[in-house]
Amino acid sequence: MERIHVSVRTRPLSPEDTTTSPWRISGKSIFIPNQPSKFEFDRIFREDSKTEEVYRARTEDIVAAAVRGFNGTVFAYGQTNSGKTFTMRGSSTDPGVIPLAVHDLFGIIQEEMNREFLLRMSYMEIYNEEINDLLVPEHRKLQIHESLERGIFVAGLREEIVASPEQVLELMEFGESHRHIGETNMNLYSSRSHTIFRMIIESRDKTEDENGNSSCDAVRVSVLNLVDLAGSERAAKTGAEGVRLKEGSHINKSLMTLGTVIKKLSEGAENQGSHVPYRDSKLTRILQPALGGNANTAIICNVTLAQYGLTILTRIRGHARDLW
Ligand code: ADP
Ligand code: MG
Repeated sequence: MERIHVSVRTRPLSPEDTTTSPWRISGKSIFIPNQPSKFEFDRIFREDSKTEEVYRARTEDIVAAAVRGFNGTVFAYGQTNSGKTFTMRGSSTDPGVIPLAVHDLFGIIQEEMNREFLLRMSYMEIYNEEINDLLVPEHRKLQIHESLERGIFVAGLREEIVASPEQVLELMEFGESHRHIGETNMNLYSSRSHTIFRMIIESRDKTEDENGNSSCDAVRVSVLNLVDLAGSERAAKTGAEGVRLKEGSHINKSLMTLGTVIKKLSEGAENQGSHVPYRDSKLTRILQPALGGNANTAIICNVTLAQYGLTILTRIRGHARDLW
């Protein structure tokens, strides 16, 4: 499996959409007028695609690998209103990547006869470079720590033991519901924060050899992160001031860092021993164990023809760029 998979998903135009932009899709490429190069992706999903297709293309394998002990991260990237939350959380008629992954995860572990599993979930947001626990509303401004035993972790973040997909989805609902408090415009708020849904998969070998010893691969712990990123539109373009400008610069910095980290990783920087700037943002620092090493990563770039400024994350360019 290729380690970093980058796809594009276009959403259908809605009646409210008034503008259309002149970029074009052909095969696995996007062409932009007056730009010298085309931008190539592993897959492009057209307006009529279902989230399940997007899920099956790559995330499905990342979920299966996570059960086998490989960390994985899937991002929804794009401007506000491009379809990130629709892709990750979904609707009643078109379930998102998160519910699809959760159902698959429970399905796979049920069939694994030789191992015993313990699943935990976390749900957090990064807003203005502050980490808040969405499962425990009082847990705000959490800090990132590192220890020999635990590696990199968010201190105090709730890891709830979960026994069914329904329980996971209920906890998510809870996490979302208390986020609304004090927010007049939920959509605007969520477009300024990164949301990390995480499953921690711990398993133990149940089989023993004739001496009663279990295998050396007895206990495995892996992490699956499903991330709904903040909107990638640039603060400068929206004429932001004050608080909005501060939010914008935090978002730009973390998306920029993410782009640089992805670029470095796809160039094989780790194997060459060169520096990967995980520490430049909370987002990449938290996700470090599930981006580098043997981890699998997928980026779903959500785009719409209704948005004139097409922002896509390419491995070629390596970082988020407004192409207009
Ligand atoms: P974002 O999270 O990027 O800000 P949303 O996921 O909230 O964007 O999507 C914006 C709007 O477009 C929502 O009303 C959503 O229901 C709709 N939408 C997004 N993607 C699709 C799609 N693939 N098919 C139908 N409607 C979509
Ligand atoms: Mg959203």
